[in-house]
Amino acid sequence: GEAARFNLAETARVAASWVKRGSKCDTDIPVEGPDELWAHGRPGHIQQVVMNLVQNALDAVAAKAEPSVKVELFTEGDIAVLQVSDNGEGVPEAIRSAIFDPFFTTKDVGKGTGLGLSISHKIAHEHGGHLRLCEHSGPGACFRLELPLEGTTP
Ligand code: ADP
Ligand code: MG
Repeated sequence: GEAARFNLAETARVAASWVKRGSKCDTDIPVEGPDELWAHGRPGHIQQVVMNLVQNALDAVAAKAEPSVKVELFTEGDIAVLQVSDNGEGVPEAIRSAIFDPFFTTKDVGKGTGLGLSISHKIAHEHGGHLRLCEHSGPGACFRLELPLEGTTP
């Protein structure tokens, strides 16, 4: 689709439900935050970014007795922020500089292409935004997508 103003909150909710629908696990994927958060760009591409992050989070908690994955939406000044966090093993310090590289994966053959984060990083930049690890101390991983805010109302 063409670049246009779109509701990031709606895109995030669609992305979470599509990943949940396609996965065999029954982990809930709550999307917390406002119903409307407007950004500009290609919603289909941003949907793919959120799907990649949520799929990675589900992969990370697959072996957990009490898996937890959540998506949080909020604003910081004129930035829309979407964070995907999980209670998996987290991203080891030693591979943090490599995870956004094309074809970098720690998953078994056939389980991951290693392209999700590199493509998502590129898409974020094409939208004037960023994709990075959150500054967070808790267990598990947290990824943060930042996009320029185009308002909070339609
Ligand atoms: P893939 O999922 O195909 O491996 P990605 O580009 O999506 O490729 O991710 C690259 C690597 O980053 C993963 O193989 C994994 O090592 C690490 N990673 C990504 N998301 C998480 C997460 N939520 N928890 C722990 N590690 C992660
Ligand atoms: Mg992936």
